[in-house]
Amino acid sequence: SPILLWIRRDLRLTDHPALDAAVQTGRPVIPVTIRDGQVDVLGAAPKWRLGLGLGHYAEALAAKGSRLIYRSGGALAALTQLIDETGAGAVYWTRLYDPASVERDKAVKAALKDRGIEARSFGGHLMFEPWTVETKTGGPYKVYSPFWRAVKDVDVPGPLKAPSQIPAPDTWPESEALDDWHLGAAMRRGAAVVRPYQQLGEAAAQGRLGAFMAHKVDTYKDMRNHPAEDATSNLSENLALGEISPHQCWHAGMRAMHEGKRGAEHYLKELVWREFAYHLMWHTPHILTGNWREDWSAFPWNTDDTRPEVVAWKQGRTGIPFVDAAMREMYVTGRMHNRARMIVASYLTKHLMTDWRIGQAWFEDCLTDWDPASNAMGWQWTAGSGPDAAPYFRVFNPVSQLEKFDAGHVYVDRWIAEGKSNPHSDALAYFQAVPKSWGLSATDPYPDPVVTAEDGRKRALDAYENRGF
Ligand code: FAD
Repeated sequence: SPILLWIRRDLRLTDHPALDAAVQTGRPVIPVTIRDGQVDVLGAAPKWRLGLGLGHYAEALAAKGSRLIYRSGGALAALTQLIDETGAGAVYWTRLYDPASVERDKAVKAALKDRGIEARSFGGHLMFEPWTVETKTGGPYKVYSPFWRAVKDVDVPGPLKAPSQIPAPDTWPESEALDDWHLGAAMRRGAAVVRPYQQLGEAAAQGRLGAFMAHKVDTYKDMRNHPAEDATSNLSENLALGEISPHQCWHAGMRAMHEGKRGAEHYLKELVWREFAYHLMWHTPHILTGNWREDWSAFPWNTDDTRPEVVAWKQGRTGIPFVDAAMREMYVTGRMHNRARMIVASYLTKHLMTDWRIGQAWFEDCLTDWDPASNAMGWQWTAGSGPDAAPYFRVFNPVSQLEKFDAGHVYVDRWIAEGKSNPHSDALAYFQAVPKSWGLSATDPYPDPVVTAEDGRKRALDAYENRGF
């Protein structure tokens, strides 16, 4: 009987343990993806990017003699319906680790088993399953460095080869049309502007990894903090949807390290930050929704996201060039440089004293590399409420940071058009992307700071020092 391969955030053929296991059985494989409530609640950009990724993946499956079946509804109901239609005897999938997916998948597994259907979940999204890494006293890690030391010498399996063909059923079940799902409907911004910045699918991801290892990894440690440089792998977009496995990145990084490439170990450490974020989310899922350090709940965050300075932050019009360049980069490309993410997060939570969840939600709406675990960890780290967080007095100064990391102002010139006689095309793309309702024009004067670097810092330090815990 056929095996249903339930596709979620694992849009690849290479190094795909669930697909590999299904193909190894020799039974027909029916790949299916389900638009359930979990897809519906995604932010605008991740949902749009998921749609692009699924369309691309369907083509990759077709090249292997297979198809992607699209179904909507509750996951269990959709799978059960498909089992009835196809006589499938098994459902395989790649594990996810956020609490909503875990709860859904547990219930699906139990219900399928009750019906006598084989239900198997596989690894692949992570190198180190969160429950396999423990401190000496048997608990989860809360600090990154010992976590890194615990995993850095663990043998990472794979990568598994892509199957040459995927056995097809005699008849294919019916499928909905991806276009009818309108996964891009919530994109307020001009999707046509954002589209050229996306690199879809497995081949593009492999190309990025190859280019990074050939040209960038050697200088990665020194250059990765400079947002004007294309000095990082840019693979977060692909890792988020499983268009490449972290194992493939890890093995390439290991090879580079053995070849003596200087930045290779640092790159491996960054991959482990992603694993650490998942470790935290698995063991302490409240990191997604509440202050991870519970005493921070007493902190007087401002939760009003209609304040003009918060609107200015979202729109990249705070009058602080580093912050504005970064927010516009995200709006146009769907991604933002890591240094810039820390700067804008610090400005929102410290200079503007705003609840980090407002920033977390805006990123979730805007990032095409949105990842629940890395986003939550990044916000709580910067705000000070998270595990292994930046100390409260670490208020990034967006002016001196600019001089340090973008001394030639190449990054801010790339993204800010106002006041320039010959603005960069990316800076102009921002004005094409923004909704008309924002009423912005590239010929507007550049705004004065909503809160200056000095005033914001002082206010934040006062509040943090008097926080009473
Ligand atoms: P590289 O420098 O090439 O790093 C290699 C890989 O390591 C990345 O692709 C990523 O998977 C991982 N990685 C690197 N830095 C981090 C980090 N700090 N935390 C976790 N994993 C890391 N990353 C996301 O993928 N999705 C998010 O939604 C996200 N939100 C963030 C929000 C804030 C406030 C902050 C401070 C960071 C956030 N990050 C997020 C982490 C980081 O900024 C991006 O992973 C990185 O910029 C991606 O670029 P790259 O692929 O070129 O990274």
